Amino acid sequence: MNRVLVRKLSSNVCGTKILRRTCSTDVTHKVSTSGSNESFAKRNPTDDGPQHDIAIVGGGMVGIALAASLASKPLTKHLNVAIIDNNPLLGRKNIIEKGNPPDPRVSTVTPATISFLKATGAWKYIEEQRHAYFDKMQVWDYTGFGYTRYNANDVHQDVLGCVVENKVLQSSQLSCVQESDLQKTIYPARLNAMDMLPSSSLTGLGEVPSTTDLFMRGRLAKLELSDGNSVYAKLVVGADGSKSQVRELAGIKTTGWNYSQNAIICTVEHTFENYTAWQRFLPNGPIALLPIGDKFSNIVWTMDPKEASDRKSMNEDDFIKAVNDALDSGYGPHPETTSSRDSLSWLTGNVTISTKERFETPPRVVKLSSERMMFPLSLRHAKDYVSKRVALVGDSAHTVHPLAGQGVNLGFADACALSKAIAEGIALGTDIGEANLLKRYEAERKPANMAMMAVLDGIQKMYSVDFGPLNALRAAAFHGAHYISPLKKRIISYASGEQALPLFS
Ligand SMILES: Cc1cc2nc3c(=O)[nH]c(=O)nc-3n(C[C@H](O)[C@H](O)[C@H](O)COP(=O)(O)OP(=O)(O)OC[C@H]3O[C@@H](n4cnc5c(N)ncnc54)[C@H](O)[C@@H]3O)c2cc1C
Repeated sequence: MNRVLVRKLSSNVCGTKILRRTCSTDVTHKVSTSGSNESFAKRNPTDDGPQHDIAIVGGGMVGIALAASLASKPLTKHLNVAIIDNNPLLGRKNIIEKGNPPDPRVSTVTPATISFLKATGAWKYIEEQRHAYFDKMQVWDYTGFGYTRYNANDVHQDVLGCVVENKVLQSSQLSCVQESDLQKTIYPARLNAMDMLPSSSLTGLGEVPSTTDLFMRGRLAKLELSDGNSVYAKLVVGADGSKSQVRELAGIKTTGWNYSQNAIICTVEHTFENYTAWQRFLPNGPIALLPIGDKFSNIVWTMDPKEASDRKSMNEDDFIKAVNDALDSGYGPHPETTSSRDSLSWLTGNVTISTKERFETPPRVVKLSSERMMFPLSLRHAKDYVSKRVALVGDSAHTVHPLAGQGVNLGFADACALSKAIAEGIALGTDIGEANLLKRYEAERKPANMAMMAVLDGIQKMYSVDFGPLNALRAAAFHGAHYISPLKKRIISYASGEQALPLFS
């Protein structure tokens, strides 16, 4: 037992020495630097490729969140990390002009995500830029049968969430990484190929084995990049989105389907500031109006693909009229505000009525303030999140319907759990690419992600059918969620990022 431990520890030490040598190579070839430990790598024809502890493929919101989380932990903050992505946002400091209208790509982040971003140090950068907390949410149905209003007070919180532009989320986390001790190299390229060999013994190698030796003995994965570079890493993290190349190259299968729905997103303006998140379920899908600060809101409108391309190309005045109709009394009447305990007596005797939460009409839209963008929607889930030297995080592991704004929140929770597993591995002196260690991450995240996917898919399906008895059932669900305090609290807690399912725990 002791012998095994000593061998593992010494292999880690060897790795660290080689990493130092690699790091100085990277610095020699850097093309631009925005932080003391950051470099942009260029090919060096004389060496066999730089070696890293971790290669994060995909520098989107989740990939950078992983780097920021590693940078914030005592055991992982000195790791040597490669970030591989040709997204130009990674190569420059993003100064986001507050005077410009918000970008239409935004995310609703939950209180659990806000805590994570505070722990990594990213939240203070977000607070310096545009963001919009909201403490109320109203969800209703075009049939006029039901609605529910959530209030942060119901769970003794100040806020239900915060809406932040994706580029603000990404650049704030990047600022954290740039200002950290993490040894990071950004490769402005795409992953083309990945190779790894079965593990074999390290005996017979010199005190400091070469990168090629370690690769040949299965201790490193080799990544081939679109610019001709090769890099090596003990662990490759696929943070490369729903069409993940890492997932495909690792041979990890997915299950899922495409929804026959597209989402149109855009920024709109009101005559006064909006502080509530609104969502109305229409026959073809939900429309959400999310506050994004000043007098702006963000629209996420889901509908069938033909309707989506029509709405994307229609003139601005017609589009604004269609949005106002969709958020007001187009398709059906406003729900009536009921305040009678009797209407629910058939559901349960234990009902507490929140009489203050009456139905409200959302603020009218007066202007379109951005281009309209369209996204096809799908559900996809990786059968495995890890294999030897590979872990998937964010959309590469799971893609969900945006109706509850949970996608990137699940990804941030993945980044948090994976950095924790890596820190545990380092504390134990384990190879951080070992599948047994990575399985701890999978065991923490897979059930939670699957539960959320099932809930979101269930809601999507419930609203894709317009059928009398089902409409009545939906109305009953709305009434239950609105008037039964314990249920309402559990729904809010679940949507806020707590682990337990609201209905079954
Ligand atoms: C309309 C809409 C609204 C949404 N609203 C919300 C919301 O309110 N709240 C929420 O939580 N979620 C929301 N989501 C989901 C959220 O946007 C995604 O979950 C999130 O963007 C996933 O982040 P990611 O970093 O995992 O992947 P991505 O954002 O897809 O980033 C992947 C990165 O990998 C890079 N990459 C890809 N392939 C390669 C390669 N071969 N080599 C190197 N790099 C590569 C890309 O350049 C990119 O930078 C919404 C989604 C949609 C479509």
